[in-house]
Parts: sequence; C-alpha cells; structure tokens
Amino acid sequence: MSEPYHIEGATGPWEVVIGLEVHAQVTSAAKLFSGAATAFGAEPNSQVSLVDAAMPGMLPVPNRECIRQAVRTGMAIGAEINRWSRFDRKNYFYADLPQGYQISQLYHPLVGEGAIEITLDEKDPDSEVKTIGIERIHVEQDAGKLMHDQHPTRSYIDLNRSGVALMEIVSRPDMRSPAEAGAYLRKLRAILRYVGSCDGNMEQGSMRADVNVSVRKAGAPFGTRTETKNVNSVRFVMATIEGEARRQVDVLEAGGTIVQETRLYDPDRNETRSMRSKEDAHDYRYFPDPDLLPLELEEAFLEECRASLPELPDAKRHRYERELGISAYNAGVITSDVETARWFETVLAEGAKPAAAANWLTSELFGALNRLGKDIGDSPVSAAQAAQLLGLVADGTLSGSLSKQVFEIMLETGQDPAAIVEERGLKQTSDTGAIEAEIAKVMAANADKVADYRGGKDKLFGFFVGQTMKAMAGKANPAVVNELLKKALDA
Ligand code: ADP
Ligand code: MG
Repeated sequence: MSEPYHIEGATGPWEVVIGLEVHAQVTSAAKLFSGAATAFGAEPNSQVSLVDAAMPGMLPVPNRECIRQAVRTGMAIGAEINRWSRFDRKNYFYADLPQGYQISQLYHPLVGEGAIEITLDEKDPDSEVKTIGIERIHVEQDAGKLMHDQHPTRSYIDLNRSGVALMEIVSRPDMRSPAEAGAYLRKLRAILRYVGSCDGNMEQGSMRADVNVSVRKAGAPFGTRTETKNVNSVRFVMATIEGEARRQVDVLEAGGTIVQETRLYDPDRNETRSMRSKEDAHDYRYFPDPDLLPLELEEAFLEECRASLPELPDAKRHRYERELGISAYNAGVITSDVETARWFETVLAEGAKPAAAANWLTSELFGALNRLGKDIGDSPVSAAQAAQLLGLVADGTLSGSLSKQVFEIMLETGQDPAAIVEERGLKQTSDTGAIEAEIAKVMAANADKVADYRGGKDKLFGFFVGQTMKAMAGKANPAVVNELLKKALDA
C-alpha cells in the first residue's frame, strides 16, 4: 500500500481503481423463499420446490435464517442494519431464471454502510492497515445453472441453485492494486467463515466476485469502469485486475476510450473478453415485489443476532498477542482462518502452553499438512494428540528432534504420542553414564579430530555432538550431551 501499484507497460502516473461485488451463498439448510435443500453436488434438479421452478401461483415465503445470517454479517462489518427493507424484482429473461425475474433488493437493502480493515501482508505485523468501505449488503436469489456439455445439440438446466440465498456485498471503489483486492477477499472470507454465514468455498462457487476496474491518471476523476463477472478465485480476481488495468491503459494511451461493459474472465487464457455492453439499473425495470411484505426487524431479533456473534479475527489476533503472549506473526497466521483458530484453542484447552503450541502449529503442523495436501479440518493428528505431544516436550520426555520423529509416526499411524514413545523406546535420556560411555567411544574412534579440536579447530565441536547423538540413536538430551562433551574435550 505504501508503494503505489505500477500497471505493467504503463507510462506516466496511471492508477487502477477497483470495486468488488461479492456474491456469498448464505449458509442455510433451505433456500431464501422455499423449503428446498441447498446441499452442494446433489443430483441435478433434486432440490427444487414448486417455488424455485416458478410454477404459477406459488408464493415466496422469506426464510428467517437467511435474513438472520445477513444481519449478523452486517453487524460483523460494523454496518448499519436497516430495520425496514424490501424486496424488488429485477426483470430479465434467461433460461436459468424460470421466474423471469430475480428477487433482489435495490432501493432498500437489508444492510447499509460498513467497512473492512485489510493488511496487505496479513503475516507481517508491521504491514500497514487500510480501511475498505462497504456500500451495502443486500439479499437476493441465485439463478439455476445451464449445462452445455451434456449433449451435442442440447443444453440442460439444473435448478438446484435456483432460489438459493445470496448476500451481495458491495465494496466502495477503494482498492488500488491487485494485492489489496486479494487481501480484501481473504479478509472478507475470513469474517464470513467466523460468523458462519457463508462457507467461503470459492471452488464450489459459494463465493464469487464481480470485479469492477477502471484506470485514471493519479488525482484525476474516476475513469469509466468495466465489470468482469463471476470470478471464482482470489488468484483469478488478481489476474483479472492486472490484465484489465493493462488493457485499459493501452486503449487510453493509444487515444481510445473505455466502453462501460460487462466482461468475462477466461482462466485458460488468463484474459478477459467483452460479453455485452453494461446494462443500467433502469434496463431491469426494477419494482417492489408485490408478493412480499417489507421486512421489519424487531429489537429482540437484532439483539439475538448481536449476541450470537463470535469473537472476530482482528479481536482474536489482538487478544492472542496481548493475553497469550503469542508472536504477532503466529497470531496473524492462526486467526486468519476460523478452523485453525478453533483447532488451536482446543490444543490450549487440552493443557498446552500458548507460545510453544503456536510455534509448533505454524511450523510443524502446517509443514506436514502442506506436504500431505490436507486442510486442518482433516488433519491426521487431532488437537488432543497435539497437546499430548507438546506436553511430552514440556516435561522433558522428548527433545525437539525426538518430538519431530514421534510426530512423523503419529501422522502415519494415528497413534497417541505416549504409546509411540513407549512402544519404540523413543524417550529422551539424560543418563550421564550412558552418554559419557558413548562420548569416550566417539573420541577414541576419532583421535585425529580430537587433536585438531584441542589444537584450536572449535568448529569440530558440532561434529562430536552429531556423532554422539547418532551413537545414542538420537535419544540423548542434547543439553546434557553438550555439557558432557565440553567437559571431555576440554579436559
Ligand atoms: P452496478 O450495480 O451497476 O454494478 P454500482 O454503482 O452498484 O453499479 O457499483 C458496483 C461496483 O462498482 C461497486 O463495487 C463500486 O465500488 C464499483 N465502482 C464504481 N465506480 C467505479 C470505478 N470508476 N472504478 C472501479 N470500480 C467502480
Ligand atoms: Mg454490478
């Protein structure tokens, strides 16, 4: 943020301006206006009620849980919650929309202005904080899905998604680089997952972004924007912005003008292309939906929403640093995802010391999970087992290197650490007699090196440590080995 983003190939002080409209699927067992289920990956058209199929005469009934989740999300971003809001019809014809209109909220959205704080590098405690404004969050229905790859000459429609509740979270045009947009999406996703209002799964389409991009000479009024629809990963959003900024600068520098239009991102070619000229709100003939009463929220409902909010990522990060004495880096990493934070708190509840547990989690556990391509949710080692392992290190049963060996075996076998230590005799030993005996053997076998060491080659000390540890099959207490070796060599 401190260094302005440079648009590749641009001459002069061009600046990119970005606003994101994120569609987040509300976590709810049922759809926004019907009781049909919302499970991902179900058999096509197996989760469609008469309302979702827009059968004549069917009436929508708002699902309280969807409204509740959107309100809680609004509260989590410090937004104003509108006690009175209303649903509008957005009219357009397309095969994936059997009603012929989408029920949305244009004039009176449920949630008004809020904000999200981002840090460009979440793991760097000194990284600058920037506030990104949120214009509104409104609630609307999703459309069905067209399938063009099932038959050579026909297209099919899957209406499972038709009527699923979405929150559209509209940012202000406050971002100035692809990296800021990436940080915003990651932070928004983290908040949604903490709140539990959306699972944030971009691959499954439960979070998608419309990416609005324009460019301007620094200080000039905003330029004309284009909107790239339905981009479904953080990486693709960043690539869309880079490519679109470059394309717009090229057009402007060649004396052309930017057309306000809707574009499509093609991940295979990593470029956007024009889809249609941008429609305006009036093209959709919005009007209040006569089938639905306005939403009026009662104080008790709002109170329940507020009371049910969890500790959010920023608050948790600060508490970890302040109260648990965890390094800023570790606190940032662990709180960046709710599942990781929950796992960590279970390890602490099982008796582990916070700082040691945090270090172990961000290095050993994350290293192993990366290697195995797994998320913390399907870690082969449970939080309770991790706490036991840390306990064995804390009470001196295991050295750092033995704990790594034991952890590897835990990953492979799923066994408890105590059982592994017992079965394989991996306990650390501080038995000075046994260690001294091995030291004597190592020195006898390396008389030349002993002479070199005593002649001033200090660096050889590490060699003797290594040999002694090897002779003790890695089980000797390293501090004791160091101490006894010094004594023997300096004698
Ligand atoms: P629409 O609903 O027609 O897409 P909005 O006015 O609601 O239009 O704006 C949609 C998004 O476009 C918002 O996220 C906003 O921040 C962003 N936006 C508006 N103007 C610009 C601009 N000049 N450059 C980049 N983004 C913009
Ligand atoms: Mg839009």
